[in-house]
Amino acid sequence: MIIDFHTHCFPDRIAERAIEKLSFLSGGLEHSTNGTLQGLKDSMQKYGVDISVVLSIATNEQQQQNVNEFAKTIDNKKDIFSFGSVFPFAKDFEEQLEKIKEMGLKGVKLHPDYQGFFVDDEKMKPLYKKISDLGLITVFHAGMDYGFAPPYCATPERIARALNWFESPVVAAHWGGINCNEGVLEHLCGKNIYFDTSFGYSMMPRYYALKILEKHTPDKMLFGTDTPWHTPQMELRLLNNLGLSDTDMEKITSRNAKKLLGI
Ligand SMILES: [Zn+2]
Repeated sequence: MIIDFHTHCFPDRIAERAIEKLSFLSGGLEHSTNGTLQGLKDSMQKYGVDISVVLSIATNEQQQQNVNEFAKTIDNKKDIFSFGSVFPFAKDFEEQLEKIKEMGLKGVKLHPDYQGFFVDDEKMKPLYKKISDLGLITVFHAGMDYGFAPPYCATPERIARALNWFESPVVAAHWGGINCNEGVLEHLCGKNIYFDTSFGYSMMPRYYALKILEKHTPDKMLFGTDTPWHTPQMELRLLNNLGLSDTDMEKITSRNAKKLLGI
């Protein structure tokens, strides 16, 4: 079984526009789906993925409702688990998080660069406290982002600091942080945090992938792709070239995610 812990799709009516805009902002990144749920499902079938976790973010207060309604609509607890989104500066952030919990969604994605905050800003403490109280999983975008200029808002040092304010599971995407391998080794490996493997192919030097796996252990790694930006085939190529045992591979591609999602 393969669980992909990091995918994206959008409501049909805005999918094409959303994908084109994100691709443009990221320097013309190619996309392997048309951005719709059906596109994601076709990709899952093509590459043998059984379950996808869909991550979306609200980039302002007004978007929260629509993003979470969409998440609720597509989340079927079978092949799609969709996370909700909260805008950190929204007046009603606590209410939104409660709704997400009531909808039965398992977690939220936070993207500090798109949402305009540093992960370790003390102002975020009440947000993290509420997430923790509800027992939701938090996936952070981590490291550099193709669409933004530095300084990056979720570096390993900053995530390590923020981690102290959480009591529910935290996932740092992209092997703990795109282009932050030394920082990941120094500040995050060995801590109580998961890394997803998304967007690693061709970005992640084999040397660092092995180092991170050794220090962080396969017990805290989650297979992820960042579909439509990378494909399952790409990310599996990277993992298949690291000499992992069958057991470790199984932990990364499904067992850890099952445990985290409670399935
Ligand atoms: Zn992503």
